[in-house]
Amino acid sequence: MKTSDTLPLPIRDQPGLRAALADANLPTLLMVYSTFTRDRAYLDSFAPFLKGAYAAEAPMAVPATMADDLRNRLFALLTQPEPPVEKPLEPEFLRHMMGVGVGEEVDPGLVPVLYDQMGFDKPVPRKDLPGRRMPPQDFDVLVIGGGMSGIAAGIKLSEAGYFYTIVEKNAELGGTWWENRYPGVGVDTPSHFYSYSFELNPEWSHYHPKGPEIQNYLLGVADKHGVRSNVLFETRVTGATWDDAAAKWHVHLLHGDGTTGEKTVSAVLLAHGVLNRWSMPNIPGLDAFEGTKMHTAGWNPSVDLTGKRVAVIGTGASAAQLVPAIADQVSQLTVFQRSKHWVLSNPDINVGVNDNVRFALRNIPHYKEWFRFRVYWFTGDGLYGNVKMEADWPNKDVSISAQNDAARTYALQYINTKLADRPELIEKIVPDYPIFGKRIVLDAEGGWLDTLVKPNVTLETRAIDHIDRNAVVLNDGTRVEVDVIALATGFEITKVAGNLDIVGKGGCRIQEDWGEDNPYSYLGVMAPGYPNFFFVLGPNSAPNHAAGVNMVIEAQINWMVETLDQMVAENAHKVEPTMAAYDAWNEKVAAQMSQMIWAHPKAKSYYLNSAGRNIISCPFRLADYWKWTRHPVREDLVLA
Ligand code: NAP
Repeated sequence: MKTSDTLPLPIRDQPGLRAALADANLPTLLMVYSTFTRDRAYLDSFAPFLKGAYAAEAPMAVPATMADDLRNRLFALLTQPEPPVEKPLEPEFLRHMMGVGVGEEVDPGLVPVLYDQMGFDKPVPRKDLPGRRMPPQDFDVLVIGGGMSGIAAGIKLSEAGYFYTIVEKNAELGGTWWENRYPGVGVDTPSHFYSYSFELNPEWSHYHPKGPEIQNYLLGVADKHGVRSNVLFETRVTGATWDDAAAKWHVHLLHGDGTTGEKTVSAVLLAHGVLNRWSMPNIPGLDAFEGTKMHTAGWNPSVDLTGKRVAVIGTGASAAQLVPAIADQVSQLTVFQRSKHWVLSNPDINVGVNDNVRFALRNIPHYKEWFRFRVYWFTGDGLYGNVKMEADWPNKDVSISAQNDAARTYALQYINTKLADRPELIEKIVPDYPIFGKRIVLDAEGGWLDTLVKPNVTLETRAIDHIDRNAVVLNDGTRVEVDVIALATGFEITKVAGNLDIVGKGGCRIQEDWGEDNPYSYLGVMAPGYPNFFFVLGPNSAPNHAAGVNMVIEAQINWMVETLDQMVAENAHKVEPTMAAYDAWNEKVAAQMSQMIWAHPKAKSYYLNSAGRNIISCPFRLADYWKWTRHPVREDLVLA
């Protein structure tokens, strides 16, 4: 193993180190220790106490004597005057370590993922790779959108020597995290994983930081890499037209002042995000409402909710964060639920990272990388069994696999305990479809369920008929008078290209090829007929089994850069996938999708298009998708 940031040893702040070792995550410390010592017997002595997520056997606490011994050994190792010499780890030993750390077998395919995505391998900037041909000066890339994807794309393109421009509709970078400012906004993937692998941040204040902290992180990374000077702010891309003779895209722009323009570039990356185009509910009379109405993504922080009667429409992840954040401020809060969402407890949601743990993340070599792996596993691929149907699973009506059933039991226990005094609320919220059939709501102390039981909060499950001047009117005629309507109604996710008019080879149009909501692609990154046009989070590439959007984004950007490099190497000007590769990928996706929870007859979600096909989710593990996008497959591409 190549060391990541080689942190200075010995650690001189011995009291700080002692305190850090006392509070740091023990399995992660074991990984650090084993990285240095490669002592398999010692590693294995911990195995009986470390168990996987939803393991049949409950984990046992590591005996205090063993835990203390590990901390003492690490203390000695990290403070000895002559720092330990690191030697490369055998991939098989590394795989074994990973398995002991997370309490279950992991396959060898995860080893390269660990090197790359957990930040162990500090990548050499592509332009410094020996023997690589640099892109020609006139080869430039236009990136649509300056959110998490666009920023990463800019950095990676620049490291590879490509000129790029990011076109961003807002006045600032950050995308989702710039736009979403509703009270309570935050992330429910721990940011020790939900962040760039090339910019690990040991300083997160919380495992699940709030929106502004993530936004600051993104801006910090962007500024460190000089991204801002390549951004055309307050400008929208309205479409792009391919000029086959010139092998260029003419990208049509609409500037903030209403003027239009055009930019001619060699390649385009569509990185406008999936949570970008707000979904405004089609409720009759919404426009007639005379009070304040705001979509969660278009929140106006200057609206004072104190003492107001507020309606929140929707019960997804945004509502579940907004409602607890405003309930104590408003006089009456009515939450309108159209369909049920599973609620799963995550006790870490509001937990701060204490100073001692931050010391460990900052100063103990490999700790932040191994901790990232742990978070990746327990919030990402380790949960894949939740969404993959077991063919002979008996209880198909309520669950799809042993792991899924265990998650269901865990969720039910939580809901039943939290709402023990409110059986009617249990009835209202517990879904009949298997858990993870649509995106879950993560909850913690003082969160969603604790708020729903507050005296000034009502969960309304009767259907909305219409909205009038000052009320939400239900099907049975009940009028719920309100001053403010918060629309937590989500995004137009299935319209992957939004309203962009993308005209490819021979006049083909993405809007026509994909229709309203029927997109297909090759690997989620390109489509035949649209040379040099790349997607981030294109069709069927979102990791909906759990966390990991950060990993997919990086994998796709890497794939694009390597594909551009392939063009440069071959002196080509155009690249697109072959029809055969495109068909093969879509067949593979369809075959796997039929075994996934989203194909369950009771699972209805925004992942499905109007014909019931899941067009959003990647039905494969993150590690597999990462492997398939690691390098372009030459035979799958047509270069000219
Ligand atoms: P969402 O999950 O799509 O939820 C929208 C809610 O609005 C649903 O309850 C939906 O009901 C309801 N709704 C939509 N149209 C309606 C209508 N016409 N009448 C009544 N109800 C209506 O949207 P979201 O909560 O904004 O979340 C979107 C995605 O953003 C999430 O899935 C997640 O990926 C991300 N997100 C993440 C976090 C986080 O990390 N903590 C926070 C917020 C958002 P149905 O269920 O019946 O469709």
